[in-house]
Amino acid sequence: MTPRIAFIGLGHMGGPMAANLAKAGYEVTGFDLAASSLDQARDNGIRIAESAVTAVEAADVVITMLPAGRHVLELYSGTADSLGLLSAVSPGTLFIDCSTIAVADALSAHALAASAGQRSLEAPVSGGVAGAAAGTLTFMVGGLDADFAQAGPILDTMGKRKVYCGGSGAGQAAKICNNMILGITMIAVSEAFVLGEQLGVSNDALFDVTSHASGQCWALTSNCPVPGPVPGSPANHDFRPGFASALMAKDLGLAADALAFAGLQDVGLGGRATDMYRAFSDDGGADKDFSAIINAIRAQTAESSIADQRAATATDVA
Ligand code: NAD
Repeated sequence: MTPRIAFIGLGHMGGPMAANLAKAGYEVTGFDLAASSLDQARDNGIRIAESAVTAVEAADVVITMLPAGRHVLELYSGTADSLGLLSAVSPGTLFIDCSTIAVADALSAHALAASAGQRSLEAPVSGGVAGAAAGTLTFMVGGLDADFAQAGPILDTMGKRKVYCGGSGAGQAAKICNNMILGITMIAVSEAFVLGEQLGVSNDALFDVTSHASGQCWALTSNCPVPGPVPGSPANHDFRPGFASALMAKDLGLAADALAFAGLQDVGLGGRATDMYRAFSDDGGADKDFSAIINAIRAQTAESSIADQRAATATDVA
């Protein structure tokens, strides 16, 4: 029998993911706190419930796509004013949380589900809003492999790839490790282009060399931070995301939390990258694609070279 799906959190990602499930013939009942998300979901064939609790009551599978861990935990276990979703469904219901949340929160969510007699997976995604709309997301899944097997056809409807990463927490761990690589390599690529500009190498020439040499990486060849070499990259479109700087700052913060959770020390670049994306987001760049970090690097380089020139002039005068 085709499972009935409840989908909670119909925002930028959850909206199109739920729409793809409905389009594929699943019966999807949804809920979101934002009226605008509900209207769009209704137009996309999703039955709208009055609350998250009523949305899940008849569901075989409950999918959540929420901003952060506290939203997931609060919905799972309930508050003084509302019943938790885990107690509102029949025993053995499969919960799939697709949000990007802290590893520690994912472990708590699995523990809450198990003690309520429910099954659970975490399945954070990469691929962004475009991938959610096109049904080409990648899912990084943590939990029991039997539950992963049951979730397979549902995940395949929303994505093109799913990787079973291991037990509880492994999916979130894989996700933040990937984004740590992405955040750091984008800074490296941006610094290299700014240095190239200073030394008189054209962006096209530098791209031609590095994209065929050992500097090759996704940040360079798919999301190049300068306009021109990769026509589809956000740099050609005023840095419209793509993947917003605020989300990169969030994910790097989760990586820092995971390091602390594992009792490990931050050995350098992860922490530095977190600081840089946070500062850039706070400084007005939050809604820009994360490749716009090149603008902060360019501005900092210009500032420091002016300071160096001033210092040199002061020394000459002295
Ligand atoms: P979003 O803010 O657009 O959507 C989240 C939705 O959750 C909102 O519509 C909000 O109203 C709803 N919500 C919050 N609390 C709720 C509650 N108690 N009950 C019902 N609905 C509730 O965010 P998004 O961009 O869709 O991201 C969702 C998750 O996906 C985040 O964890 C994010 O880190 C992750 N993610 C986002 C992207 C991206 O490019 N946007 C890419 C990969 C992963």
